[in-house]
Amino acid sequence: MTRLEIDHLYVPVAGRTILHDIGFTAEGGSLIGLVGPNGAGKSTLAKTIAGLLQPASGTIAVNGVALDTMDRRDAARKIAYLSQGDTVHWPLAVRATVTLGRAPHSGRFGTASPGDRRAVEAALHRADVLSLADRNIQQLSGGERARVLLARALAVEAPILIADEPVGALDPRHALNIIGLLREEAARGALVIAVLHDLALASRFCDRLLVMRDGRLAADGPPHDVLSPAGMEQHYAVAAHHGTHEAERFVIPWRTLNAADRKPNQEGETA
Ligand code: ADP
Ligand code: MG
Repeated sequence: MTRLEIDHLYVPVAGRTILHDIGFTAEGGSLIGLVGPNGAGKSTLAKTIAGLLQPASGTIAVNGVALDTMDRRDAARKIAYLSQGDTVHWPLAVRATVTLGRAPHSGRFGTASPGDRRAVEAALHRADVLSLADRNIQQLSGGERARVLLARALAVEAPILIADEPVGALDPRHALNIIGLLREEAARGALVIAVLHDLALASRFCDRLLVMRDGRLAADGPPHDVLSPAGMEQHYAVAAHHGTHEAERFVIPWRTLNAADRKPNQEGETA
């Protein structure tokens, strides 16, 4: 079982400490939602776990091995990463783009093994982009491109998948499909950490939510504990509607709260 351990992580970006003392442990078989307001540091944390940003201090370890002591290719096989709003600079066909996800395995483009080809076809199928396989990725809609880039991340077949806003650009049907697919990845044993803004999806599909605020972990727990009325107020400064549908609980942000609405027992802060 894959185990990710993050301990006392501090991460600077452009000379300023953005992440402060982040620590948590997570295991394969779960879908974890990384949530919190804009600018809270979610993407910074996602990039740091993916090895794209260097911590000033603290550790990230996979199965007891620190990321910064791992061979780059080895790390890339362990942690797949889907970046937020990824831009595509090359006029590549969709299938070729997804094949790039196999680079940590083959190490050499253009020499895909039968195993690589199988992984690519499976990823195309699972992200529902098989019908786009021969299209130029630069000529797709934002939502189509998002699914192709998810397919590229799935093609890595890594035990850990970090997806930064994988459903941000998707229509409701594709958003439900993709979050269902991330759940399946978790059911197959992967550790999936997804940055999500849609709290209805996050609360319904995630096993656990990590809430970031001002570069810190502000909460960590089961979705409905974290997104309780008090949590919604504290983390997002909104009042929410909490309900139940088909025996599942949901939460919908309802209206913004201003300082006067808010209870005074929260670290003396105002919205
Ligand atoms: P989130 O993904 O939660 O919206 P980010 O991790 O993107 O937040 O950003 C966290 C903080 O880091 C923000 O205050 C943002 O302005 C700052 N930041 C992110 N990237 C850079 C950068 N390249 N240079 C300077 N500051 C940055
Ligand atoms: Mg972000």
